[in-house]
Amino acid sequence: MLTQDHTIVIVGAGLAGAKAAQTLREEGFPGRVVLIGEEAERPYERPPLSKGLLLGTADRDTVYVHAEGWYAEHDVDLRTGTRVVDVDRGARQVLLADGERIGYDKLLLATGSSPRRLDVPGADLDGVRYLRTLPDSDRIGRALADGARVVVVGAGWIGLEIAAAGRQRGAHVTVVEVADLPLRRVLGPQLARVFADLHRRHGVVFHFNSGVREFRGDGRVASVVLTDGTELPADAVVVGVGITPNVDLAERAGLAVDNGVVVDESLRTSDPDIYAAGDVANAYHPVLDRRLRVEHWSAALTGGPAAARAMLGQQVSYDRLPYFYTDQYDLGMEYIGHADPDGYDSVVFRGDPTAGDNPEFIAFWLADGRVLAGMNVNVWDVVDQIEPLVRAGHAGKPVDVAKLRDPMVPLGDLA
Ligand SMILES: Cc1cc2nc3c(=O)[nH]c(=O)nc-3n(C[C@H](O)[C@H](O)[C@H](O)COP(=O)(O)OP(=O)(O)OC[C@H]3O[C@@H](n4cnc5c(N)ncnc54)[C@H](O)[C@@H]3O)c2cc1C
Repeated sequence: MLTQDHTIVIVGAGLAGAKAAQTLREEGFPGRVVLIGEEAERPYERPPLSKGLLLGTADRDTVYVHAEGWYAEHDVDLRTGTRVVDVDRGARQVLLADGERIGYDKLLLATGSSPRRLDVPGADLDGVRYLRTLPDSDRIGRALADGARVVVVGAGWIGLEIAAAGRQRGAHVTVVEVADLPLRRVLGPQLARVFADLHRRHGVVFHFNSGVREFRGDGRVASVVLTDGTELPADAVVVGVGITPNVDLAERAGLAVDNGVVVDESLRTSDPDIYAAGDVANAYHPVLDRRLRVEHWSAALTGGPAAARAMLGQQVSYDRLPYFYTDQYDLGMEYIGHADPDGYDSVVFRGDPTAGDNPEFIAFWLADGRVLAGMNVNVWDVVDQIEPLVRAGHAGKPVDVAKLRDPMVPLGDLA
């Protein structure tokens, strides 16, 4: 049992870290809570960085996880602009960049992830940008000016959201992607085409099956040369080719690391006093019966609190299904569950994904008639009904596929 003489240190002041601190106080932990983050800002949420903030429709104040005074009011020692450089497990201390050591009884690693960098000639030119932080979003927002020529490298979620924001701001947007469709690995070809069509309708030009050979420019990027030799003029470039988990501290501390910090279903690492949550955690998932690292907002929102409860000694089995959402132009979508790219045998639709300019439908990924994941596009308030289908599917129970397709059968009747 932890008392007021104990200290819990949280490394990483993003969403997972901030929500963990909040839960510690809500659960009545009376001891010291230290929340350490290397960014200058207090904890904030990243989804608006590629949506409302780029479009100028979201107020900057709305991105923060807590009001400015919350940390002091709840006796959370928030250290911004502070990097943890080492974890000394023997002494149970974290070492800060300025040499200070802070002792812990329990430690949470919520260090998130970093954009994968392109390693090609010219990658360091000014104007070649990545999107992870508020200052990144501010700089990219300024580059998406009316008439600007913007090249987005990577047609994943972030790349497509930037493309949408760029078009809505009047920029000329070209997207370069190594695959033959956007989001192909995540969604499969049928749904990938829905997103390709959506963006084409809004004037995005795609270069598929194409990589970047080099960026050219004199100090500042002026063009992007593709692997087939095509040269695209560019006033700005944004690269969104995936992220890598920030595991360096865990690795140096000798914790088990494998595509993230390896944790059990209570989010505990190979050291019983150290936990991990959010983008950095590769957690055993009791419903999916496998380890999974989820790089989405909801995993940070709910994983931070779950780790906090586990650190307080509560019995925790973190079994939230992976969930994420996107907004692009007028399209809004939510996805729940998990289907590996080669782990499903069919995609079943309720509604027609090709109907009109902004179709309303639900897609289900199935294996042997079992629902592995569901995605509602422009259809709302159905996630709670899809979730039991996904849980049943992962538990080995098939669904009546004819009824799944039939919009006249309430989803709630299928579970
Ligand atoms: C632009 C953008 C848009 C997104 N949109 C969506 C969306 O629409 N839907 C969705 O589901 N998800 C979205 N995501 C993903 C979601 O934001 C992440 O999954 C979430 O931020 C993960 O939270 P986290 O707390 O685990 O990590 P992070 O938010 O990365 O926070 C970790 C923090 O730890 C700090 N840190 C790392 N190492 C150290 C150290 N050694 N010392 C001190 N501090 C350290 C980092 O600086 C960072 O501030 C988006 C992400 C981005 C970047």
